[in-house]
Amino acid sequence: MARVLIVEDEKRLLRNLRDGLAEEGFEPVTSTNGEAALLIAETQPVDLVILDLMLPGLHGFEVLRRMRLSGMSRPVLILTASEGVDDRVRGLNGGADDYLVKPFSYAELLARVKALLRRGPPRDQMELSAGSLKLDLVQRLVFREDEEIPLSRREFDLLAFLVRHQGETVTREMLAREIWRDSQTLLTNVIDVFVNRLRRRIDREGEESIIRTVRGTGYLVPGARS
Ligand code: CA
Repeated sequence: MARVLIVEDEKRLLRNLRDGLAEEGFEPVTSTNGEAALLIAETQPVDLVILDLMLPGLHGFEVLRRMRLSGMSRPVLILTASEGVDDRVRGLNGGADDYLVKPFSYAELLARVKALLRRGPPRDQMELSAGSLKLDLVQRLVFREDEEIPLSRREFDLLAFLVRHQGETVTREMLAREIWRDSQTLLTNVIDVFVNRLRRRIDREGEESIIRTVRGTGYLVPGARS
């Protein structure tokens, strides 16, 4: 029986979700705030988390961040009241697996929950490496040998994307679309500025950068054999 942690401060919605999931044979655990949810996630086995974003006290994004930091790798479905794309993108970048915009139908929620649970144990690829760099995709950390390199969220996304495409040229168009979700970025030198800043953080002084420039096109992290 899958244990589902529901974090929601609207009491009626929380009750409905709890009862609905229990009827479907899930084992719901509930919390109306982030602090209590974190405690549950750290001390009890949880198979899936349904997380509202607008919570009293800790915001849902912060709850998600702390859950991922503490190594919780189970699927997280975020509930957002906002119709803007920002929260969804931010949530997915921040380690959420899926999102639902309120108001949603219960059938839709149930379908998402089942789909996430079917995916089974955490994504198989939890680590990437390139040269002496290691990326922990679950906790979103980067190490060179054993030393952690602090990166911003976007720097991490950028590096992870380049390393995932190791051995392939990644165009500026791809980066604008995947990392900035915006083609306007292409009109500026934002991408180049970001890549240069990232290089300064991850490369060793005096060594060739792990991120090569492909003139007129984009960037390349050489594959193991190139
Ligand atoms: Ca709320």
